[in-house]
Amino acid sequence: MLIFGTAGIPISAKDEFKGVDVLRKLNLGAMELEFVEGVYMKEDYAKKLKEYGKDIIFSAHAPHYINLNANEETKIENSIRRIIKTAKVLNNCGRNLVFHPGYYLKRSKEVTYNRIKSNIQRILDKLEALNLNVMLRPETTGRTSQFGDVDETLKLCYELDILPCIDFSHIYARSKGTINDYNSFYKILEKIEDVLGKEAIKDMHIHLSGIEYGKGGERRHLPLNESNFNYRDVLKALKDFNASGTVICESPLKEEDAVLLMKCYNEL
Ligand SMILES: [Zn+2]
Repeated sequence: MLIFGTAGIPISAKDEFKGVDVLRKLNLGAMELEFVEGVYMKEDYAKKLKEYGKDIIFSAHAPHYINLNANEETKIENSIRRIIKTAKVLNNCGRNLVFHPGYYLKRSKEVTYNRIKSNIQRILDKLEALNLNVMLRPETTGRTSQFGDVDETLKLCYELDILPCIDFSHIYARSKGTINDYNSFYKILEKIEDVLGKEAIKDMHIHLSGIEYGKGGERRHLPLNESNFNYRDVLKALKDFNASGTVICESPLKEEDAVLLMKCYNEL
C-alpha cells in the first residue's frame, strides 16, 4: 500500500496543524516537513503535531545547504549539524529524513562517493550516540552536478545499511527525459530490490512532481500536468511491483496534485 501526501504545509492551510485537517479531509496521509531553507520547527512543536496528527506519517527534508563533499571541513561540519538538527525535531514525530548528500565539485565520482560515505557514517554515529531513531534517506538527485544517481545512491544505502528516497522526477530530469516509460521505471524498482532486498520495496519513500529539465538536469518543479514526466507509468510500475511506503508530492500544487496521484494510483 502507498500513502500519499504533501511536501510541506498544504496550500489551503496556514500551519501544520491546519494542514493535518486538510490532509484528512482529502484522504491523504502524509506530510513532509520542509526544512529546505532551515530547520524552523522546535522539538516541542513537533511532539504536539504528532499528538494531533497520530494518523499522519510525518517525514522531514533537511536543508538544501548541505555538501558532505565540501572542500572546507567547517562546511562539512555545518552540513552534519543541519542534518542532526533536522533529526532532533523529526525524532518527535516521524522517521524518514531526506537529504541531498552533496556536489561533486571537481572530484571524480569515486572520490566523491568515498568522502560522502565516510561523512554519512559520522552522522550515523552521532545519531546513535544521541539515541535519535530516524532513517537517513539520501535522495536520488536531479542535477548532474549533484551526487546522487540511482547506482551510487543504492550502493551507498547498501554499504551503510540505510534506505533511499527515490525521486522519480529527478531521475527523469537527470536522464534528460530518456527515463520516462513503464519499463524504465520498473527496471529501477528491480534494481532497488536486487541491491537492497524486498524490505526496501516494502518500505519506500518516494518523491513525485512535474519537472522541467535543461542540459544539466533539473531546472524547476512544475504541476504534474504541465510537464512531460510520465507519473502514470511510475504509479503503474509501483503498483505492479507491489511497492509500499510513502509518496510525497513536490509539485507547486501540493495537495491538489497529491490527490491527483492518489486517484490515479487507486484507479489502476
Ligand atoms: Zn529533495
